[in-house]
Amino acid sequence: SSLIYDFSQSELKEIFKDWGEPPYRAKQIWEGLYKHLYDTPSEFTTIPTPLRKKLEREFDWNPLSPVTILNSSDKQTIKTLLKLRDGNLIEAVLMKYSGSSDYSSDNDSSLHNGSKSIVLREKKRRTLCISSQVGCGMGCVFCATGQIGFKRNLSSGEILAQVIYYARLLSKVKERVSNVVLMGMGEPFQNYDNVMVAIDRLNASDGFALGARRFTISTVGLVPAIRRFADEKRQINLAVSLHQINNEKRSEIMPINRKWNLDELLNACRYYVQKTNRRVTFEWALINGENDSENTAIELSERLKGIHCHINAIPLNPTGGYSGQATSRQRAAKFKETLERAGFSCTIRMRRGIDIQAGCGQLAGSFV
Ligand code: SAH
Ligand code: SF4
Repeated sequence: SSLIYDFSQSELKEIFKDWGEPPYRAKQIWEGLYKHLYDTPSEFTTIPTPLRKKLEREFDWNPLSPVTILNSSDKQTIKTLLKLRDGNLIEAVLMKYSGSSDYSSDNDSSLHNGSKSIVLREKKRRTLCISSQVGCGMGCVFCATGQIGFKRNLSSGEILAQVIYYARLLSKVKERVSNVVLMGMGEPFQNYDNVMVAIDRLNASDGFALGARRFTISTVGLVPAIRRFADEKRQINLAVSLHQINNEKRSEIMPINRKWNLDELLNACRYYVQKTNRRVTFEWALINGENDSENTAIELSERLKGIHCHINAIPLNPTGGYSGQATSRQRAAKFKETLERAGFSCTIRMRRGIDIQAGCGQLAGSFV
């Protein structure tokens, strides 16, 4: 049967009309799902019992069942293996950040500390990292999801249900989801429409009401999709996975670079910044001896000159199918310093949930 989260409010309205029910039923269902986070028709106490029974029969209410839940040793990261109705497995990760120790050079609301501009991020960030596909067909060699290959796209309902799943969990301790990043399994721009529908649905002010700016889409660099995204002028944040600034080297680890090279990619990023007036984030997985030298940082800064951007570097997370190693703390700090000296903002992201294989690129849909 059809997944209830796959329907818009107006589609629900149509269905109720067909059923001879008043149109306000759609609003009741909508609010139940996205405001009160009900997960079964029995919780909709304002709806008459026969209709609840019909809703139970006609729709699938439970798209994702948790198979395994892992807590990192520092209790700040939770990874859940979720089973879809067809038996496929995806992963979604919750990352907790709590105020004071969490400084970064982000430009949300800077305060000054000596010569260095820093930001105290809002307390209690609750960031979800969700999946957009089962597996991924982009074949980046350093990524565990890439190593399993592409299985299928997730529906809009399957994408947003990951957020609802964690929102329910958080609501039990009176907390809310604050940010959602599409950095789990899959290439979100390869499943463009479903991803946008999912975000729009979570965005709706009469429902879940999570602002567009709270979402970040990370792409491997699908140039036409970046341009389309720019044309649509959405308020969603864009992150582009770069990792190398030399075409030959980038093609070696990211096959997509053979289709759209660095010139085409950076031009699309310029177009995005121009169209939206927003900065783009470049992701850089620091791999020891591969892309973490001072020279590489200088080359990177030269190529990115004139693009309003932020560089998000993260020491590589280990995966089974790739021999590359993480950069040392010192080399990472030096890399950041070099970029900052060249006038760029750069953060070294903490590696999170490594002990439970919940780091970027470690999601493989299996627990070994
Ligand atoms: N497909 C999208 C989003 C999912 S991957 C993309 O590639 O951008 C999310 C981020 O994790 C990307 O920046 C990706 O390059 C990075 N990543 C993948 N494997 C990694 C690894 N082993 N260590 C660190 N980052 C990794
Ligand atoms: Fe796919 Fe992103 Fe992994 Fe590349 S890094 S294989 S695009 S999920």
